[in-house]
Amino acid sequence: GKRAFIAGVADDNGYGWAIAKALAAAGADILVGTWVPALNIFETSLRRGKFDGSRRLPNGSLMEIVKVYPLDAVFDSPEDVPEDIRTNKRYAGSSNWTVKEVAESVKNDFGSIDILVHSLANGPEVTKPLLETSRKGYLAALSASSYSYISLLQHFLPIINPGGATISLTYIASERTFPGYGGGMSSAKAALESDTKVLAFEAGRKKQIRVNAISAGPLGSRAAKAIGF
Ligand code: NAD
Repeated sequence: GKRAFIAGVADDNGYGWAIAKALAAAGADILVGTWVPALNIFETSLRRGKFDGSRRLPNGSLMEIVKVYPLDAVFDSPEDVPEDIRTNKRYAGSSNWTVKEVAESVKNDFGSIDILVHSLANGPEVTKPLLETSRKGYLAALSASSYSYISLLQHFLPIINPGGATISLTYIASERTFPGYGGGMSSAKAALESDTKVLAFEAGRKKQIRVNAISAGPLGSRAAKAIGF
């Protein structure tokens, strides 16, 4: 069977969860990366059976998540983590959650993966029009929503089996003007789409790894509700 790592699952409402289920239904082993501040509630909900209804697969069995890794994809390695995050009580209970460390943990635990899914985004100023977006908010959107994919691919590439596949999720607001998709999120998706082409060339040449992005329709996930979709 194949093994998939899905970054960006913290509840049962988003694309990451749905993709995990589709891959589980196809027989893959599922590993997920969960944003550190959301980890506790996600693991507690899983344990208490809150997701059991939505864990059900077409064959009647329940999706098993083999392992949940804490992840914050805006930090590549421990040296990048600033003091205020390191000592924040929502982070202090977890360890090894930078991208580099998560890839190392997955390698130590399982050796390799076949499928890498990037289903995460964050734009702190998403409700602000681009014209009113700060430099800090814009760069934060790009860091969490675009560079996070480059970083994940960079660090996971050595453990993705040749012939493997990676995908990310984008949105049409990269190509057409969508009022409400602000804070640099439209820019972040445009970067993600362009990067997909370049990374497909590079990862394809290097290791026969496919790199694709799915431009998904609107879904009432936690992230989308924050912007009133
Ligand atoms: P979601 O809330 O289920 O997923 C986003 C996830 O990103 C959350 O679990 C959140 O905890 C995580 N996250 C945020 N910052 C992170 C960080 N620094 N490190 C690690 N994880 C982090 O919402 P979703 O809408 O399913 O989003 C998944 C992907 O789909 C995103 O790339 C989003 O832009 C894209 N997308 C969504 C829609 C839609 O309408 N919902 C449409 C097109 C594309």
